[in-house]
Amino acid sequence: MSSITGKTRVCGIIGDPIEHTMSPAMHNAAFKALGLDYAYLAFRVRKEALKNAIAGLKALGIAGLNVTIPHKVDIMPLLDKLDPLAEKMGAVNTVVNEDGILTGYNTDAPGFLQALKSSGIEPKDKKIVVIGAGGAAKGITFVLAEAGAGLVILNRTPSRAEELAAQMARFYKQGLKAMALSEANLEKALAGADVLVNTTSAGMVPDVDLTLVPARLLRADIAVFDIVYNPRETRLLREAKAAGARTIGGLDMLVWQGALAFEKWTGHKAPFEIMKQAAVKALQHEK
Ligand code: NAP
Repeated sequence: MSSITGKTRVCGIIGDPIEHTMSPAMHNAAFKALGLDYAYLAFRVRKEALKNAIAGLKALGIAGLNVTIPHKVDIMPLLDKLDPLAEKMGAVNTVVNEDGILTGYNTDAPGFLQALKSSGIEPKDKKIVVIGAGGAAKGITFVLAEAGAGLVILNRTPSRAEELAAQMARFYKQGLKAMALSEANLEKALAGADVLVNTTSAGMVPDVDLTLVPARLLRADIAVFDIVYNPRETRLLREAKAAGARTIGGLDMLVWQGALAFEKWTGHKAPFEIMKQAAVKALQHEK
């Protein structure tokens, strides 16, 4: 953002809490780099204020919005249109306002897919082991299944893994298994696997010594993607690297979801590296 004018278009993020978001740093750096007259702000919106916030978005002509916890599901019935992928996933993280018509998209999981592909991994026909069955896991397993991967989902609470697998089985027919998260099941699931994805918060600050995967199960031929982005290198990634595996961190996913939202709002190709540098800097300021 260079200077605010009467023509400046506004984008932003709503959530609660919101003060630790890195999105303003990423997007404002991108607007500045491309010389676009846009500004991006963070708005703390409590659950009970969501409806009014969306009416305000329309009234003020805010161009675009990111949506984070706790609003990703509740916002859906308040929008005019839903992108089919967001509808299938049951969560919206990006809203585009086109002349008062609000369309909801999900760029979280496509951001994950972009990060995976950018590291040279094509998911089609790969065997992918996913740990976790929460909000992030839902989108990630959908895009992986859509891309033609076979999936094994392991979760601490087995019923959630089973529920997720059952939801997906309505859309996808390829290999899809749910298991309880245990060392024995992990060992079974990782036999012949190509990629391991941690979608749980294990290993995130302050619990940086926590990992759900014993180091002895990590191998050079299993790429490891940990969606946790703080710290940038989790214990899981460190141990995977030590085992000779290719590793991908959560920051790339975060920046890609932002880049894809930026492109929807502005119609311009997002400056990925600039957004990543801004996110890294914002993350350092968090410490
Ligand atoms: P969520 O909906 O609360 O789900 C949390 C998941 O983690 C559940 O499957 C939960 O298992 C599991 N879990 C948590 N602590 C565990 C532990 N100690 N042992 C075993 N399993 C554990 O959260 P979410 O929204 O999916 O987010 C998960 C993580 O992803 C967070 O760290 C978040 O910051 C990160 N994330 C990153 C990005 C990115 O762009 N990089 C995007 C979204 C989220 P149960 O079902 O048994 O409780």
